[in-house]
Amino acid sequence: MTRITVAKGDGIGPEIMDATLEIIKAAGAKIEIDEIEVGEKVYLAGNSSGISSESWDTIRRNKIFLKAPITTPQGGGYKSLNVTTRKFLGLYSNVRPCMSLYPFVETKHPNMDIVIIRENEEDLYAGIEHQQTDEVVQCLKLISRPGCEKIIRYAFEYAKAYGRKKVTCFTKDNIMKQTDGLFHQVFDEIAKEYPEIENEHWIIDIGAAKMSDTPELFDVIVTLNLYGDVLSDIAAQIAGSVGLAGSANIGEECAMFEAIHGSAPRRAGQNLANPSGLLQGAIMMLNHIGQGAIAKKVQNAWLKTIEDGIHTYDIYKEGVSKMKVGTKEFAQAVIQNLGKTPSQLKEVNYSKDAVLNLPKYVKKPSKNKELVGVDLFVHWEGTNPNELAEIMQSINSEFKHLTMITNRGIKVWPDGFNETYCTDHWRCRFKPTKGNLMYKNGIIALLSRALDAKIDVIKTENLYDFDGKPGYSLGQGQ
Ligand code: NAD
Repeated sequence: MTRITVAKGDGIGPEIMDATLEIIKAAGAKIEIDEIEVGEKVYLAGNSSGISSESWDTIRRNKIFLKAPITTPQGGGYKSLNVTTRKFLGLYSNVRPCMSLYPFVETKHPNMDIVIIRENEEDLYAGIEHQQTDEVVQCLKLISRPGCEKIIRYAFEYAKAYGRKKVTCFTKDNIMKQTDGLFHQVFDEIAKEYPEIENEHWIIDIGAAKMSDTPELFDVIVTLNLYGDVLSDIAAQIAGSVGLAGSANIGEECAMFEAIHGSAPRRAGQNLANPSGLLQGAIMMLNHIGQGAIAKKVQNAWLKTIEDGIHTYDIYKEGVSKMKVGTKEFAQAVIQNLGKTPSQLKEVNYSKDAVLNLPKYVKKPSKNKELVGVDLFVHWEGTNPNELAEIMQSINSEFKHLTMITNRGIKVWPDGFNETYCTDHWRCRFKPTKGNLMYKNGIIALLSRALDAKIDVIKTENLYDFDGKPGYSLGQGQ
């Protein structure tokens, strides 16, 4: 028996949750349920997070959370419960299988069967944003080695447990050599530990284009948070399954399972909604808690029901469907099919132990970190980089000097192009003069001279070498 937390949510949530629980219980799921209230009622009662602290306690105690969609009330001040849950519980992995159910559900990609595994905690989603000048705002992209290792290992372990043949990594490391570069590097390292699984890397732009055009070329895709966010919606859409897909959010301790669609308030309370998305989430949950045999039974019965043409209104199509049914009747049809397998759609065969083997992250030995320079970011209203270079050179010392100025990353001094458009946000790189070393107090001295010279320094970034390798990017064009 596994004790799980269930939230029935808002709109169509209660109906699809009842249907889902009825199906998995009929299949023999060994679960005990603690129900909590989250969503609209909690928000409107004045709790801006949509969840009470007692409910948090229940979720943290049971560790497994099956959640129906909720309605986030319109207007400001309400925090998205999904984002909060992911962050607080450290749910680093978002798993979204996207498969087509052709010819029963319309799609241009009849043979699509991919799983998108998206890093869920880092990247531009840290929400660390600052306005630095009149014209420029910044969002910090943070990528960590443990973050990369956890998600990439998850992808390979997932592939192994679910009999998948290939893991593809998508990054933009031709441009973001440090952040996406780390993700790619860790992918190459971990891929070596799984020689039985094919691996490949694509640059995200052409990779995404290829996935949208020929998804059957892909199997498991692992990628960073932002790319994964976009890609997983595209994948669900082109599979024809936005209304039918589930997703899992997995952490080292806790996990949350849900449908990808929302609470569809206009359909609520009419026995119309399709419970398939939440059922898919519940099937992922059963696999996660080691009840793979039951997950398999439910999934095959569900595939058979879709194949039998027993469809809710959202996928009902004259000529393809046989019977239009409501939520409850659909659930009953799936229950009738428990023990049966589909004949046209591909039967699933989850292994009993689809529980993933995920070792805790082991910290790597520290590298030799050497300060080799500093970037001063400056708010300056002028337009001619040569003028700024003159001003900045006035704070040179015998130990360190200006070596480069960039504007939004593009080198504009020395040897810039007149054509390069410049805004009011400049990066001025200072490096030690020949034969000298860089020290932290040298940075303080530099800043102090900048202050005297009335230079508006908005921030600094230290430049480090790690084990002799530069840990910073060059200017574009440098
Ligand atoms: P939605 O997914 O609720 O609805 C989009 C369309 O799909 C509607 O036409 C709806 O009727 C239909 N639909 C969705 N699920 C269906 C199902 N199971 N069966 C049949 N038809 C279905 O998206 P929306 O209208 O943009 O959002 C409604 C509410 O849901 C909003 O308050 C939003 O914040 C919330 N939402 C919650 C989650 C979540 O809790 N995970 C996710 C997305 C949206």
